[in-house]
Amino acid sequence: MSKEKERLKECLHCSLTFKCKRSDTKYCTNSCKQMAYLKRKTIVKIIVTISPIIPEKKIGFVKRIINWFRKK
Ligand SMILES: [Zn+2]
Repeated sequence: MSKEKERLKECLHCSLTFKCKRSDTKYCTNSCKQMAYLKRKTIVKIIVTISPIIPEKKIGFVKRIINWFRKK
């Protein structure tokens, strides 16, 4: 029987260090995952709401932020 590799990860939401077996795990619990998702959604919503009043020169920057949040 092969031993599964455990790795230490830091939760992206609460910064708690936790053990996990999968390399793509980002959160310590499902509730952290959910909270992080809601937070991201809220931030994107705010940015989208204020984007019409952002000067055209800065739109590229704002779009980069939105994409960054959506990717995470
Ligand atoms: Zn967490």
